[in-house]
Amino acid sequence: MNAVSPTPTKKYDLSFARWVRDNIDGGDRMNMCMQCGVCSGSCPLSDQMDLGPRKIFMMVRAGMKEAVLKSNSFFQCVSCYNCVVRCPREVPVKYILHGLGRLAIQEGYQDKKDVANARFADAFWWSVTTFGKTDERLVPTLYFFSAGFVEGIKKSLANLKIALGMLKTKRMHIGMPHKTKNRGELKAILEKAVEIQARHEGGA
Ligand code: SF4
Ligand code: SF4
Repeated sequence: MNAVSPTPTKKYDLSFARWVRDNIDGGDRMNMCMQCGVCSGSCPLSDQMDLGPRKIFMMVRAGMKEAVLKSNSFFQCVSCYNCVVRCPREVPVKYILHGLGRLAIQEGYQDKKDVANARFADAFWWSVTTFGKTDERLVPTLYFFSAGFVEGIKKSLANLKIALGMLKTKRMHIGMPHKTKNRGELKAILEKAVEIQARHEGGA
């Protein structure tokens, strides 16, 4: 992905549509969209989205950069792939949404601290790269407090009953975090994945 997408000079600026086509993963398939709405109709989270995939694709093609990148739709997606398998035109809907979401944060249209999914992803990534697995105590704790101290306390108290239930049924352990064996191998795989993504986003 080129570092920065074009600054719109008007409400409908087709340079944004061209940039998405050339730089967002799967963006070159967006022209195949026939606006049938199967993706939005199949999405279990569409009622939480302000726009939904079909409208987003129409607006990208119309060059409505600001309106698109301010949408909450990208961050409601739970990667269930319903839209991808059902799209009659094989548009990789989910991948495009995630690319646009990343762009919205990179270019300051959305603040990461307001995006719960992005903060959860950071906590998850930290645990996997540190221990080789998700720690059932540290990931939620990091996530809860990533929205601020007061919010962290509130969320921790709200989930206390669940945590106690998990402890009782041995779904949560006490003591040091568990670590995978051969973490060096996992680390090498993850570093390679990051390198491939960076190369891809650099347009190489
Ligand atoms: S299902 Fe595919 S063709 Fe239909 S609106 Fe969605 S992306 Fe476009
Ligand atoms: S992958 Fe995301 S956008 Fe597609 S149907 Fe699932 S939740 Fe909706």
